[in-house]
Amino acid sequence: MRVRDRKGWGTGSSLEDKMRCRVCKGLLEPRVTDLPFKIGDSAIVIFKRLPALQCGQCGEAELKQATMARVDQTLASVYPA
Ligand SMILES: [Zn+2]
Repeated sequence: MRVRDRKGWGTGSSLEDKMRCRVCKGLLEPRVTDLPFKIGDSAIVIFKRLPALQCGQCGEAELKQATMARVDQTLASVYPA
């Protein structure tokens, strides 16, 4: 099993900071942005100022797992399933 050394990964706190865009393989850069999340078939919630990773080439945004978990939690509390 390969063990990654966290040193040398820059200032990022997780490996995901060096993820590549799943669309164009461009480098993802940390950004603070507004992102819409679909709820069921009829509603959209927009989260403001979310810390995301955005592709410098095509603009595709990815969320870290911790951020995604926070979004899920918030959505669940506002719109319980
Ligand atoms: Zn991209």
